[in-house]
Amino acid sequence: MIPTEKIIRAAQSYRKELIGFLREIIAIPSPSGEEERIAKRIAREMKRVGFDEVFTDKLGSVVGKIGKGRIKILYDAHVDTVDIGDRNKWSFDPYKGKYEKGFIYGRGACDDKGCVASILYGGRLIKELGLEGDYTLYFTASVREEIHEGLALSQIIEKRKIRPDYVLIGEPSNLNIGYGHKGRIELKITTKGKSCHAATPERGKNAIYGMAPIISRIERLNKKLKAKEPLGKGMIAVTKIETENTSLNTVPDDCAIYLDRRTTLGETKGRVIKELKSLLGGSRAKVEVLKHENGDERYYPAWILKEDHPLILAGIETYKTLFGKKPKIKTWPFCTNGSYTMGMKGIPTMGFGPGDPKYAHSIDEKIEADDLAPAVSFYALFPSILEISKKVRNL
Ligand SMILES: [Zn+2]
Repeated sequence: MIPTEKIIRAAQSYRKELIGFLREIIAIPSPSGEEERIAKRIAREMKRVGFDEVFTDKLGSVVGKIGKGRIKILYDAHVDTVDIGDRNKWSFDPYKGKYEKGFIYGRGACDDKGCVASILYGGRLIKELGLEGDYTLYFTASVREEIHEGLALSQIIEKRKIRPDYVLIGEPSNLNIGYGHKGRIELKITTKGKSCHAATPERGKNAIYGMAPIISRIERLNKKLKAKEPLGKGMIAVTKIETENTSLNTVPDDCAIYLDRRTTLGETKGRVIKELKSLLGGSRAKVEVLKHENGDERYYPAWILKEDHPLILAGIETYKTLFGKKPKIKTWPFCTNGSYTMGMKGIPTMGFGPGDPKYAHSIDEKIEADDLAPAVSFYALFPSILEISKKVRNL
């Protein structure tokens, strides 16, 4: 028997402490790459609330572990945030953790520290009520998600050899179940020409003129991209144009454009590159996928998990058990670490989190305090429901 009432009550009883902890970690600035301080605070809290094991990996992500059963479940939420942008545009200090009229404010409140705090307290609840079962639960409070989706989890999965059977991504979803999102690729196209004095342009070949028709074709391509439900239509945009040319009276011999390509299902990296090459019109322009410093390509695949997948069904069941109604199943408007776990590794992945995604990355970011306890109870109960449903289905 699942002690549903007890779980709901325990989650509610954490309210004050949980809000306090969330405000505290909002007050520790953690832009991508500078997560050391917040990671230490999170590791300390994981130990305090009773996680069986806690360690920090080489990259700086904190990993907590509960139980040692057969089903391996990984919960992930990232501790880094985007920059605050123009400080003057905020109506309060983004690094204070202001709490007023039922909302907690600050950079990272919604994306993604509310999820970090709720998952952590979900772990606490599992330990306090003894909800452990035939599962091992890992919680990765991961770093650098905002600049390199998947990097932290690839370290955990490849280097630390923690191979989850299922992944739950904690990102703001208004407490709905997330089952996928579009992918993205960052690309560059370069044209070459021949430089000469701008007073006699006929002697050279202007690389910018070589690029112009390609840009027009890309603009037209964006209108032609086909939708694939439930993710909808892909998108392509030229986001920057540059030349190495340093002189304003020389015809440039090079030109580069940068592209942000959002992909729907079926729009793989190979297909995207092929499609762009077909726009080059016989010119010798070069198309390339941009890379991170460590050599990883800036490619994050689109993904979707079937609505009737056992993981999603367990999510629905958990929701119904706790809240007495059916959840909404939604796609996310942004990219997450799920691009790596599901898009690249094929590990069944689902999402769930407190907070409204529309406040992610926004000025005056906030999260509703009433979202937190339901999230805690969901994170605590979900592994048990998944375990039971696996037994029932004989998986
Ligand atoms: Zn996020």
